[in-house]
Amino acid sequence: MYPDICVGDIQQIQQDLTVNDMTNELDFDFDAGELCLDYANTAEMHASQKPDESLHDFEDLVTWGQAAGLVAPGRAKDLRRIAREHVDEVYAFYGRAIGLREAIYGIFAQTAGEQMVNPEDLALLNQTLRQALPHLQVISSSMGFNWGWEDDPQALDQIIWPVARSAADLLTSNNLTRVRQCADDRGCGYLFMDTSRNRSRRWCSMESCGNRAKATRHYKKIRKTG
Ligand SMILES: [Zn+2]
Repeated sequence: MYPDICVGDIQQIQQDLTVNDMTNELDFDFDAGELCLDYANTAEMHASQKPDESLHDFEDLVTWGQAAGLVAPGRAKDLRRIAREHVDEVYAFYGRAIGLREAIYGIFAQTAGEQMVNPEDLALLNQTLRQALPHLQVISSSMGFNWGWEDDPQALDQIIWPVARSAADLLTSNNLTRVRQCADDRGCGYLFMDTSRNRSRRWCSMESCGNRAKATRHYKKIRKTG
């Protein structure tokens, strides 16, 4: 699902960016077990015909980045200011960011279902990596050395650099076999890392899709025997 952005929206988005300078109350899920999967799950009912979008605009992306710990509050303010001054760039970036999310979702839904990965999805991930990785660097701290990202207050894409790297790391790791997709038949589509001992987790959560499936099975059994 790619966003349809038309020129008529520009004024509204400018207004939204102006009035909404603080982190809003969006409730994002960060329980998937990997950053790239959390990002893929920002559309709910993702495997259905009508996914429910959580990232409606650039503002939401910045808010998600803050909630994920990728964007410091000061930097978020900078990004929102830059976005107000460069509306066209914001459009282009938002389209790239959602495109990357759909590619990541497709790749891991396919690997979880033991299907061939769509080459176009992989190409889009690699394209983002080519843009992101030149900004990767080793950072020194009192604790030692870590991988980190170049400090570039102007780069809108900095929100998705770590996401692309997370997807690449997961795809090339042994943990890829632990990636699962919720078995809900309505199209929940939630992706997660199965950390259960016998690798048998089927649902995003027992409280929602798991209980619903159990109730459906129970109902069918009663109908059959009743
Ligand atoms: Zn589910």
